[in-house]
Amino acid sequence: MTAETVLQPSPSPLIRKAAVLGAGTMGARIAAHLANADLDVVLLDLPSLAPKALEALKKSKPAAFFDSSLAARITPGNFDDDLALVEGCDWIVEAVTEDLAIKRSLLEKIAPHVNPGAILTTNTSGLPAASIAANLPVALRRRWFGTHFFNPPRYMRLVEIIPTPESDPAAVAAIAEFADRRLGKEVVFARDTPNFIANRIGVFIMLETIRLMQEEDLTIEEVDALTGTAIGWPRTGTFRLADLVGIDVLAHVTANFARLRAAAAGEISVPPFIQTMIDRRWLGDKTGQGFYKKEKDAAGKEVRLALDWKTLEYHPGAKPNLPLLEMANNAERLGERLRLLLSGDVKRDKAARFHCRLLAALWNYAAGVLPEIADDAASIDRAMRAGFNWEMGPFEMWDAAGVQPMPFVDVISWYRDHGRECFDPTAGTYRPVTRPEGIARVATFRASNGVVRENPGASLVDLGDGVACLELHSKKNAIGEDIVRLLTETLRTDSEAVRNFEAFVISGDTDQFSVGANLMQLLLAVQEDEWDEVDRMARDFQAMTWAIKFCPRPVVAAPFGFCLGGGAEISLAAVRRQASAEVYMGLVETGVGLLPGGGGCKEMTLQSAGDDHALRRNFETIAMAKVSTSALEARRLGFLAQGDRITMNRERLVVDAKHFARSIADAGYAPPLPRTDIPAPGESALATLKLGVYLIREGEYISEHDAKVANRVAHVMCGGAVTPGTLVSEQYLLDLEREAFLSLAGEPKTQERIAFTLKTGKPLRN
Ligand code: NAD
Repeated sequence: MTAETVLQPSPSPLIRKAAVLGAGTMGARIAAHLANADLDVVLLDLPSLAPKALEALKKSKPAAFFDSSLAARITPGNFDDDLALVEGCDWIVEAVTEDLAIKRSLLEKIAPHVNPGAILTTNTSGLPAASIAANLPVALRRRWFGTHFFNPPRYMRLVEIIPTPESDPAAVAAIAEFADRRLGKEVVFARDTPNFIANRIGVFIMLETIRLMQEEDLTIEEVDALTGTAIGWPRTGTFRLADLVGIDVLAHVTANFARLRAAAAGEISVPPFIQTMIDRRWLGDKTGQGFYKKEKDAAGKEVRLALDWKTLEYHPGAKPNLPLLEMANNAERLGERLRLLLSGDVKRDKAARFHCRLLAALWNYAAGVLPEIADDAASIDRAMRAGFNWEMGPFEMWDAAGVQPMPFVDVISWYRDHGRECFDPTAGTYRPVTRPEGIARVATFRASNGVVRENPGASLVDLGDGVACLELHSKKNAIGEDIVRLLTETLRTDSEAVRNFEAFVISGDTDQFSVGANLMQLLLAVQEDEWDEVDRMARDFQAMTWAIKFCPRPVVAAPFGFCLGGGAEISLAAVRRQASAEVYMGLVETGVGLLPGGGGCKEMTLQSAGDDHALRRNFETIAMAKVSTSALEARRLGFLAQGDRITMNRERLVVDAKHFARSIADAGYAPPLPRTDIPAPGESALATLKLGVYLIREGEYISEHDAKVANRVAHVMCGGAVTPGTLVSEQYLLDLEREAFLSLAGEPKTQERIAFTLKTGKPLRN
């Protein structure tokens, strides 16, 4: 076979059924995520292991399945009796122990059962993908490459795809497309080099961090504080994360790398104190101790002890005293924090010296390995963001810190033209950053099309093709006056935006769609006894959801992450929803002693029209402040309707929502008319719901105040104690909501709850 025939693409295969070989940590969870993507999955391991893994998977935390019913999509089996099950599969993922001989012999065993046309990939963390398949027939090697998932595969967004020189580009493209659209992953193409991209940089920086800690004489707690959110890395910091992942896993990846890279020995090795920890099985959370350990103090309270790396003894964790870091942490943007940290006095301040040395090492290493491991700097940045949850990748941090890429004197930054071009050090020029069609954030459109209007809480951004986005961007997207004003004014029947655009999307670029109404603004007004102000706030909020619902143009909400309280009410008011698969949606107002007063109770009542079972379900959803753990569950809880859509890849959400809104406009949109003919469930339904509340109160499952709040919810949802079937209007239901909301806001226990939640972020059960 010539190179030409090898590279000749074959028709793109369909993926309907998959097999995962190996039901360990990764294999089982990959299988679960394939089931989330609506595939039937065969899960094989040594005898008796796969059924056990499937049972454990159902209970795994964080949940591996979008909904527990999806476990039924997985058929467990073993490598001795069930190889025939592989025959019907279009994609087979190998995820057995990281051992070349084990992987090779298993592949030889299954090879006769692989369908012609089926694609075979490995989840190896760092073994050369090509060498694993060296003994397979050529036809299979064409359909062989690496698909490297990160743990846990449902939540970690990165999949590295590692083609070998023999891989058929069509097979690679089919899996890349599937991983992107159906599994919702950030796909990064990597070269077949040890540890690929993210682990290569990640392990280097971890070992460098430890080396610098020792040289600068810093403690474990200090380093965790220095390597957390301050520099845009996960809040766990380096060592808390290592405890979570497992210190043996780190050592394993390191050893793997050192073995494959004998020539570069010295680049990477595990320091002796960590080797001692491994020998003593201090491997982190899974063995009960690692860099930290939990213990009960004299009063029986659990305290976290930190390891002293010099003596290998544990001591009570102390809050590090790092003034420069504290100052930097007050800055909202990462670029500002980095610039502050790098401006420290390196002669006197060891923390400043640590950051300067760490970032210089990161940047030099990333630039040094770039030509060997990745197609471009942007691939490395995306891999570190999606694989290690960094806020920015190394080259983006480099630009944000305002440091010139040293070796290239006339080049002032890695990216230019709003990230559309990226510097290629090998060619000495900028090249376009290519992304698959349909991947874009609101920021992409901000940069290309500009902003129509904005205030500190929200913006109206032109998405092109006659669609505009109402982008939420207040702190945690709490809904305060800014957002309420911009949304209401934009979507009003006679607004300029309604004249100029044919459809709208409500979304954003932050991690959370919205944590709900701005409770601080509410609490201040309540405490000042400004009841007219509270009433005005409630009316304004209702006017906003009214404007969304009855806008002459279709409004599609695109919720993602937490979508709580008022955020869920915005979503419910839209004509349709394009939800991220990872949406945690709930009307959680009862948790702070209130009820949904912005149309949430009304929408959930309308949605259950004439169906007692649905009414009870929706009442419980609100009264118990239930929050979905996925979009699939949001549908079951009544937050998403049948005609709503789900996007697996968060990076596609805005464009998907735009196309959805556009298609509704194209079909000839006529907005709904406010209803005046809603048959109220009335007094009999109210009596049933109240009896339920009474019984759980008697069983002491809820507090007196919970019962009071739940009864108010029941009252609103039933349209009050009216004769069943009495026709009421939407406005009437909103008036009931607002009255109940105001009355509950006046309750001291509600105010205590609000104050507590604002302070701690947690609910108070009083
Ligand atoms: P694991 O040890 O949890 O599971 C490995 C599975 O392989 C086990 O269920 C075991 O029964 C099976 N196995 C062992 N010997 C076998 C044999 N001779 N024949 C057939 N099956 C055998 O390992 P894991 O963490 O799930 O890792 C699996 C693969 O995924 C490895 O290649 C690893 O490098 C890679 N990976 C792991 C992670 C991670 O964080 N754990 C992340 C990315 C990739």
